This record gives sequence, structure tokens and C-alpha cells, in this order.
Amino acid sequence: MIKNRNNPRSELFAHRIIDWQQQHGRHDLPWQGADAYRIWLSEIMLQQTQVVTVIPYYHRFVARFPTIAALAADSEDAVLAHWSGLGYYSRARNLHRTAQLIMQRHEGKFPQHFEDILALPGIGRSTAAAISAFAFHERRAILDGNVKRLLARYHAIEGYTGEKKIEAQLWQQAEASLPKRDVAVYTQGLMDLGALVCTRSKPQCPICPLQADCMAHQNGLVAQLPTPRPRKVLPERHSTFLLLLNGPDILLEKRPGNGIWGGLWCPPQVDPQLLSRTEDATAYCRQHFGTETIHTIALPTFTHTFTHFKLHITPLLLQVINKPKQIQEPGMMWLDVDDALQAAIPTPVRKLLQEIQAGRRLM
Ligand code: SF4
Repeated sequence: MIKNRNNPRSELFAHRIIDWQQQHGRHDLPWQGADAYRIWLSEIMLQQTQVVTVIPYYHRFVARFPTIAALAADSEDAVLAHWSGLGYYSRARNLHRTAQLIMQRHEGKFPQHFEDILALPGIGRSTAAAISAFAFHERRAILDGNVKRLLARYHAIEGYTGEKKIEAQLWQQAEASLPKRDVAVYTQGLMDLGALVCTRSKPQCPICPLQADCMAHQNGLVAQLPTPRPRKVLPERHSTFLLLLNGPDILLEKRPGNGIWGGLWCPPQVDPQLLSRTEDATAYCRQHFGTETIHTIALPTFTHTFTHFKLHITPLLLQVINKPKQIQEPGMMWLDVDDALQAAIPTPVRKLLQEIQAGRRLM
């Protein structure tokens, strides 16, 4: 457990946040006051994603998977389909795997001890602390992106917050500021203040409860802090998406479990250097999918940016005149475009399918 420290500035910090949360914070989020399963789910969905985006996904998810047992018993495909569009799909795969582990190791009950929570796949220190605080009222410090920004400003800590040394300083401050009681309100207050007041751009210092002794505010450093991530040029990759259409159907393949879009359904992807001419694409499809194609159209190239690289995608639209009964490659299927839009597909593929659907309506 965390040691109590009698630092008046830290105590004042916590009291102000608790008071502010009670008066101005969020009190009607659908997972507030819910069980540990729903709190865990919301915390995972909220990683990298804003509350307003998460809420409809959260409702759909708990309607389909109302318990840990229901989540564990369903297929990974169903879980990914309900995650489709939220991105960072390893979160969904870990949720599914973790639900199965909880069934095996904890008799279907979400573990209560911080160390047991932290040992589950996809749950880091800050997420485990948030679950412990909200579900079990345990005194644990959180340090998500919003809290890092808030603490870096309040204590005027310079340096990129993703750097180990700076992160250690922030953890130290996060732990030193924990109140002796009302930890759930305090934790929610930190999250609310970071999301609503001490925002990335245009923080609202005049209405902030920490304004009186915020060091960034006092020293005119608000715009400079937190120190931005050092600029890095992202590597660029290129891919051709083969959009093989036959009547209402499109050919999709399941991506391997690891790597980008792991476990999601995508059109077949090929290195563009292999297909420099239309005939190359026709021959490639004949060889790999047993199809004969007509009308090959290259759609405009667009770019999708991942955290660690940029992917330039050229979609190639191919009308297939024969749909082989047997698909020669494993992990592939023909799916009606309308049904494909309900499946586990990444956002750029969703956009392409929506364009195809819209194009058909115009024909
Ligand atoms: S005073 Fe401004 S910079 Fe300081 S914590 Fe509040 S909103 Fe953030």
C-alpha cells in the first residue's frame, strides 16, 4: 500500500480536486458505480479514445457481452466486430483472452487485489490502479496521458513525459498527492480535470481549481508544458488492396493475430511492386484466388497513419466474373458488402466498403 505523506501542498491539491469533482465533474458516465467488469471494460476502451467516442461502443459491447462469462464464451471475431472502428485492436484481443483467464483462474470473478489485476493481459499500472480505485476503493495512483499533462503543468516538470526519468518523477508526484480517503472521487476528478479543463490545447486556467499554486500557470509555462515528444520521421510503407467484387460479394482475408489489424478482416494486400500493370493484377488473382477478372480500376491512393509508420494504400477495384466455390487460400471468405460492414474490419477498409456501397446505390 501507499505510504501517507504529510505534504500540505499535496493535501491541498487532492482536496481541491475532490471538491471540484463533486461540484463540476462528470457523474453520469454509464460505467460509474458499475461492477468491476464494466469498469475494466471502460478503462480499456478509454485508453487512446475519448469518452464521447467510447459511450456508444460501451453500450453495444455490454449489450452483447453482459458478463465476463459471456465475453469469454463468444468468438474473437464477435469481440473484434464490436470493437471495429475503435482502433488499437490488441485491446479487444486482450479483453477476450483476459475474460477467458478470469474464468479459468478466478472462477469468473474479476480479481480484487491490485497485483492480480496488474498480472492480467493488457492491464498496465495506471489502468490497474483506476480499476482498484473505482471498483474496490483502494488507494492507488493513476497516471494516464491526461494526468501526466496535468501533473507536468502543475509541478512545472520539463522533459518528454514518455521518457523513463520524467515518467518516474510524475509517478512520484501522483503517489504523493493521493488523498487518505475518497480515492474514487479523487481519481475521477483527476480524469475529469485533465479531460475538461487542463486540456492539451487552450487549457482553461481561469476556472481551474489548481490555478492558485499551479507552477506552469504562475511561471507562464502553460503553452510549453508538457514538453512535446521529440519529432521522429515515420517510415513509409506502400500496399495495394485488391477489392475483388462479384455481384454483392467482396473477397476478404483474416489478418494474422499479431501485427497491425491483427485478427481483422481486410481485402487481400499485395506489395505494389508486384502489380505494376493491370495484367499483373489479373494474373495474380487467377493464381492466388482462382478468379477471372475484368474491369480493373485503380482508385486514388490514400494514407493511413499508425503510431510507428505511415501506410500508403492504393485500392484496386476488380470485377470478378467467376467466383470459385473453393477458395484456394486459407483464412479467406466471400462476404456480402453489407455484411462485411458489420464484421471486424479496420477503419480504412470500412471507408472503402462504404464508398463501394454508395457507388452501387448510384448505379
Ligand atoms: S492552472 Fe491551467 S495549467 Fe495549471 S493545472 Fe489548471 S488548467 Fe492546467
